[in-house]
Amino acid sequence: MDTTIAAISTAYGEAGIGIVRMSGPDSLKVLRKVFVPRVCTAEDAAAFEYEPRHMYFGSAVDAAGSFIDDCLAVYMPGPNSYTGEDVAELQCHGSMVSYKKILAAFLDGGAVPAERGEFTKRAFMNGKMDLAQAEAVIDLIKARSSRSFECAGQQYSGTLSEKVKAIRKELLGELVQLTVNMDYPDEDIEQVVYGKLLNRVSSIDDEVLKLQSSSEEGRIIKEGLKVAIVGKPNVGKSSVLNMLLRADRSIVTDIPGTTRDTIEEQISLRGLTICFVDTAGIHESEDKVESIGIERSKDAFNKADLLLLVLDVAAPLEEEDTELLSMAVGRPAIMIANKQDLVNGQADEGVCVTEEILRKYMAEGESPVFVSARTGEGLEELEDRIESFVTGGRVRKEDDVIVTSARHAALLTKAHEELAQACGMIKAGEAMDFIEVNIRAAFDLLGEITGETAGDEVLTEVFSRFCLGK
Ligand code: GDP
Repeated sequence: MDTTIAAISTAYGEAGIGIVRMSGPDSLKVLRKVFVPRVCTAEDAAAFEYEPRHMYFGSAVDAAGSFIDDCLAVYMPGPNSYTGEDVAELQCHGSMVSYKKILAAFLDGGAVPAERGEFTKRAFMNGKMDLAQAEAVIDLIKARSSRSFECAGQQYSGTLSEKVKAIRKELLGELVQLTVNMDYPDEDIEQVVYGKLLNRVSSIDDEVLKLQSSSEEGRIIKEGLKVAIVGKPNVGKSSVLNMLLRADRSIVTDIPGTTRDTIEEQISLRGLTICFVDTAGIHESEDKVESIGIERSKDAFNKADLLLLVLDVAAPLEEEDTELLSMAVGRPAIMIANKQDLVNGQADEGVCVTEEILRKYMAEGESPVFVSARTGEGLEELEDRIESFVTGGRVRKEDDVIVTSARHAALLTKAHEELAQACGMIKAGEAMDFIEVNIRAAFDLLGEITGETAGDEVLTEVFSRFCLGK
């Protein structure tokens, strides 16, 4: 890359400090034009010897030599830099005016404006990271919950890439073996060859499927779990929502333009983002509640990853309850028997909704959660249930890889289809060169995850999702 790119790396708006940076062969040359270290004169700045990765205090100046801002400067020569190229950064006061003037001075000095994600694209091109790691950078930046940040960090450190590379290595072994078999066919042991091949390819396919099957959890970790609270009027939906909101002691920032458009409330629960969808009905006033009901719930049923179906334990089930319960059968739902405080201590009389009654609406092993939105009773169990819905009750080991990217999940699905097809053909004793086509396709598809086989189109698509300056 022979151009030197420059961009404002800090988000627009007021901040304590901000960073404007450059990458490319002329970074040092341009830095010397724009920055005057306090330890030298303006004339000497043009030849100042920067010690790599040391901070210098001084002033940024424009092309006419006029003062812009007091700054800290750092020069990081390649290849030991983020992009692998020569990088220079100025830290200035966190004002848009300062950022823009410094960027203009960099451009006047010979740099060109960076495109979205171009710093990371260069890091990828220069072999500092593979494509899956580069994609993790944007996930780190966009992470809104501690778990999504952790998953992105894991991917950034290369765990997914290592796994994919290991699978590709095994596939390559099979491709080599197939070529040998095609070149030197041995009629007598053909059955043995097919039998062994089937074992190996199907065990590789299992590994692909295992990765792929983590992607649903990964999607929820990355985007948040979409939860809809449904139930007939007055069962306590709004109160249950408030109970969960009150329990949330973390900060979930509102980021305009993200998936929040249809989401009214958001919490962080045990490091997971929970987005409550379609809560409009819940907040409507009493006289409008009639209009809510089943129609509205249908919509929520379709939008949500998980339903919280609220019932009133102290009132007999009505048609609207049972209709909702029937609609929820076979869907991901947690039944919440609310207003438990009204029936505590009244063994029989007050209790109208029992586990027994609800049994026919629940799958084997499921049970309702008894809560009181008024006293907070049952809150922890409800949180446990929501959490284990996401994790499937699995306790993940440190080195377990979770696929969070829709792009990766789609490639894994396709690779699995190719391998499954290959297995079918092996079983049918088809010719080796036909089987080879599917195995090679799986090999190439997996290479798109790490970028080994990703074309320009894929790269453009991936990096266009980045922010400027990263
Ligand atoms: P929604 O229409 O389903 O959203 O119901 P609300 O949350 O507005 O609650 C309806 C009524 O039930 C209100 O008067 C609440 O104070 C009351 N309520 C909600 N949850 C509880 C609870 O756990 N115990 C008791 N005793 N009352 C509750």
